Amino acid sequence: MDATSNNTELCDIAIIGGGPVGAALALALGGSPLKICVLEARAANAASTDARALALSYGSRLLLERLGVWDKIRDVSAIRTIHISQKQSFGRALLRAGEMNVPELGYVLPYPALQDALTDALQHGTVARIYGASVTRLAGEAEHALIGYQQGGVDHTLRTRLAVVADGGKLLAEQYPPSFHDYGQSALITHVTCAAPRADTAFERFTPQGPVALLPFKDGYEIVWTAPHPRVAEMLAWDDAQFLNELHQHFGDRVGEFLTVGKRACFALGLKKAP
Ligand SMILES: Cc1cc2nc3c(=O)[nH]c(=O)nc-3n(C[C@H](O)[C@H](O)[C@H](O)COP(=O)(O)OP(=O)(O)OC[C@H]3O[C@@H](n4cnc5c(N)ncnc54)[C@H](O)[C@@H]3O)c2cc1C
Repeated sequence: MDATSNNTELCDIAIIGGGPVGAALALALGGSPLKICVLEARAANAASTDARALALSYGSRLLLERLGVWDKIRDVSAIRTIHISQKQSFGRALLRAGEMNVPELGYVLPYPALQDALTDALQHGTVARIYGASVTRLAGEAEHALIGYQQGGVDHTLRTRLAVVADGGKLLAEQYPPSFHDYGQSALITHVTCAAPRADTAFERFTPQGPVALLPFKDGYEIVWTAPHPRVAEMLAWDDAQFLNELHQHFGDRVGEFLTVGKRACFALGLKKAP
């Protein structure tokens, strides 16, 4: 059931944000006698264009299996071995799934694939969803929380006994400004292919300018390359040939020559703490 009209009724639990956290919570609560509602800013059926790839642990897989969505996620690549090394140092450490008694250590998948599977599962459940609903206000009353949201340019309100804020951390930031510690580094994210990929193996390499991770995904690797902000700004300006060459210099020969590189994205790294 889609709740698309102005909802002045009382609900028991309102979940603000239908991303991975909000949608997973709604699915976990589905089937309870409580009246639950998810408010999501994205339009219904709007495809997510988020560029990020996610590395999920085996424990997350078990949770998603319990929610009935794991088998519905497309484009999942497994990690069975993790190779850890430090630049300019001797030796390396290997973690293998078999030694931990798990079939896989983790998985790499696109954020939209997880989002789509969760959104799809919600459509078949009993939890009410309000799409295109951008929450602008959350206030506490004696017995309830009052949520103000905009949908199609119209203001609405919703009363709830419990409000769960799962919007990625923006809504409460104005009211309760978080402290922020800048790590002084950014992460450059992209997809590369290489001459000698190692099946199901992720690499974590510590270097003086920051760690670089290669996460096995489809025909190559998702790269997370960290460096001080000014250096990442330079890296973003490299053309493909220079990028592939510099990555080879930085990472070494473990997967052979790097052959192709996709679109680059960049995220500043920091620690945000709610008060
Ligand atoms: C580059 C990058 C790489 C990452 N890699 C990993 C990884 O490898 N593994 C991992 O576990 N995590 C990773 N993360 C973190 C992971 O993406 C987040 O932990 C996760 O997305 C949090 O989910 P969420 O549902 O809380 O928030 P979000 O994913 O931010 O979703 C929030 C949802 O709320 C909606 N929303 C926002 N504001 C409102 C509003 N006002 N009203 C209504 N709806 C609203 C949004 O449309 C969205 O659907 C990474 C993050 C980044 C940036």
